[in-house]
Amino acid sequence: MDQVLQFIDKNKNKLIKLTMQLISIPTDNPPGKNYDKITDFIEKYCKRLALDTKRIITPKSELKKYKINAGSERINLIARWDVDAQRTLHINSHYDVVPATSSWKTDPFKPVLKRGKLYGRGAEDMKANIAAVLIAIEALGACGIKPKCNIELSFTPDEETGGRTGFGYLVRKNIIKPDYAISEGYCNDYISCGNKGIAWFNIEIKGRSCHGSEPYKGINAFEKMIFVANEFLLLKKSIEKRKTCFSTKSQKNRFSTMMMGGEVWGGQKTNIVPDRMCFTIDRRFLPEENIEDVKKEISNLIRKLKKKDKYLDIEAHLMSEEDSVVSDEKSILFKEFKKSAKNILGKKPKCALLSGATDIRFLIRKGIPCLGYSADGAGSAHSDNEFVYIKSLINTTKIFADIISNLK
Ligand SMILES: [Zn+2]
Repeated sequence: MDQVLQFIDKNKNKLIKLTMQLISIPTDNPPGKNYDKITDFIEKYCKRLALDTKRIITPKSELKKYKINAGSERINLIARWDVDAQRTLHINSHYDVVPATSSWKTDPFKPVLKRGKLYGRGAEDMKANIAAVLIAIEALGACGIKPKCNIELSFTPDEETGGRTGFGYLVRKNIIKPDYAISEGYCNDYISCGNKGIAWFNIEIKGRSCHGSEPYKGINAFEKMIFVANEFLLLKKSIEKRKTCFSTKSQKNRFSTMMMGGEVWGGQKTNIVPDRMCFTIDRRFLPEENIEDVKKEISNLIRKLKKKDKYLDIEAHLMSEEDSVVSDEKSILFKEFKKSAKNILGKKPKCALLSGATDIRFLIRKGIPCLGYSADGAGSAHSDNEFVYIKSLINTTKIFADIISNLK
């Protein structure tokens, strides 16, 4: 293994250059740009590493189902290193990135290397991981080391818009059915083993409009909303006392959450009594909670509010829901990965739940042992001046090489 680690150190510039090349292809999603360019680029690299590649295009009917009607063709690239082993380790990376704002200090798609950090959109999330896994395989090949598992890589689109038309499609159609899988997640001495559940609601309050000079003739939906929002705040207080038994990275992450007002809309004009107000709720719930109970909690409150105010015209619309997922930490994948990380970092990592969902949830739901691990960018993913630490990029590459060669 020493030889492999030396190869990675010696080829550090190649690793950085590859990450930069990936960042330079703007794969903003929405709408999903340049998916053909990036998959061409990655496929060429995989072929140079003697991997067998295959492209799976997500059909238009699937895109329609999930209301995707713009951007590139959705290309899922799969690359395999078959060693005739019984088991298969899958490593997934999504290649789409969230769009960049105009507040970046530099061009987000012209990567900049500065004081041990590589800046660019997608540096942390998750083009660094793509480069890391490719160089890890290159290092093993160069040193003549064969993995003990079949290795299957996937490079998929649309994670940033829910992943159902990328990795989710591959899982749904049983195109991939590995024995273990790794995708993005925590970094350094933390591994992610699952995520909280998500339920998004839109709360709609209806009133009756009339002239602003005679407001008593109408029903003011905004004033009704204040009453509603205050009652929701009380529910929020009780929800946010619930704590999970699973480990989380920070103490604050251990609690159930309810975020209100991510979007608020309604009203037309200063002198018109508003006849409709809406606000959203982003509810993240614990593995110990149940999605049906989460929905019931909202509908029970709505019923209670209607009793308190018989003129209240209110409805809660469920916009999206995803149950929480937790992978089995006792699996050999976790044991081996912890060992690999300890070999490289000198410290055994801990497992923790993520508060946000990633694509790996599709496979965890099938009962396949899965973990999340990423190169460290100090949580700058999705923000202006996103970056990745070069040190962590190198270490992540080494950890990938170690787990790929050791997992049976
Ligand atoms: Zn990501």
